[in-house]
Amino acid sequence: MFVVMTVGASEAEVLGVKSRILSEGLTPFDHVGAEHTVIAVVGEIGARKPVLIDRLAAMPGVDRVTPISRPYKLTSREFRAEDTVVRVLDAVIGDGGLTMMAGPCSVESRDQLFETADAVKAAGATILRGGAFKPRTSPYAFQGLGVEALRYLAEARDRTGLPIITEVMESAQVDIVAEYADILQVGARNMQNYSLLRDVGRVARPVMLKRGFGATIEELLMAAEYIVSSGNPNVILCERGIRTFETYTRNTMDLAAVPLLHHLTHLPVIVDPSHATGKRWLVKPLAIGGVAVGADGVMVEVHPTPDTALSDAEQQLTLDQFRDLMETLGPVHEHVRGLHGDPKDRAAALGSAGSGGLSKH
Ligand code: PEP
Ligand code: MN
Repeated sequence: MFVVMTVGASEAEVLGVKSRILSEGLTPFDHVGAEHTVIAVVGEIGARKPVLIDRLAAMPGVDRVTPISRPYKLTSREFRAEDTVVRVLDAVIGDGGLTMMAGPCSVESRDQLFETADAVKAAGATILRGGAFKPRTSPYAFQGLGVEALRYLAEARDRTGLPIITEVMESAQVDIVAEYADILQVGARNMQNYSLLRDVGRVARPVMLKRGFGATIEELLMAAEYIVSSGNPNVILCERGIRTFETYTRNTMDLAAVPLLHHLTHLPVIVDPSHATGKRWLVKPLAIGGVAVGADGVMVEVHPTPDTALSDAEQQLTLDQFRDLMETLGPVHEHVRGLHGDPKDRAAALGSAGSGGLSKH
């Protein structure tokens, strides 16, 4: 449930409500919005619900208490109407600008990474990606250079000024990856690794959470809820394709997920057409599609010589193809920005539609 405070509620009144919630063994999370403070009540409320609603509603400074049926709370638009904006070094994600994350699938050598980093930076990328620990389907495939790759990534950041994003595959790697990287990536295969989600929720680094290829949008939001409720509000979501019966593409890029997520959550949404399609020539049209439906950014894999890549050779763009993509996406983004409306209107729509305007049919 959410406790919505009155517009002029005092700090003492907010504190009063929070201590009442704590005394019930529940956890309060407050968000100071443009108009009023909203306090989410998180925990196992159970049969106490009606009594608790009445008690909280009667407290000074409380405007109303709204029971929320959605399982995710802190990541929902009801809790926070304004978009979450993630800032890391000079990059800003979710402020209406276009975030471009680019770099190799795997860091293969210092030279390969630097050549890619310099080229994507010059073309306008805002964040450098590169896998150090790789989740490979085959145990015999290249598993990544590990800590050596993290060092190259940190050097590439010093060289280009671009923040770096790289995947953390298990809890034991969180500290070392957070030491080198600016953004931690939780991959599709780990979207429901709950202990990892809690552990990345405890570090002071933004986290990009990729949608599992068999995960619903609600499961993605519940996974994000683990991270945010563990203390880390800087979560970025990534649609990277889901598995369907189609075999011509590696996955099926769920473009509807982008406006849906923007409707349901305040977190920024990135699309990854590289893993979604698995084919180099499909990356550009799907990147355009992602930007057109309102994505806050795009992640693409780029390699100086994709055909010799140690992983995902078929889907990595050449440096020239990345430059071409950037030239195309800029005007598309300029054209569509503003067409998707004010996020606060989406929150208002949620309020009036009750179920968020969504139905299963
Ligand atoms: C990646 O981005 O390097 C990756 C492995 O992606 P995903 O987790 O989406 O498969
Ligand atoms: Mn890859």
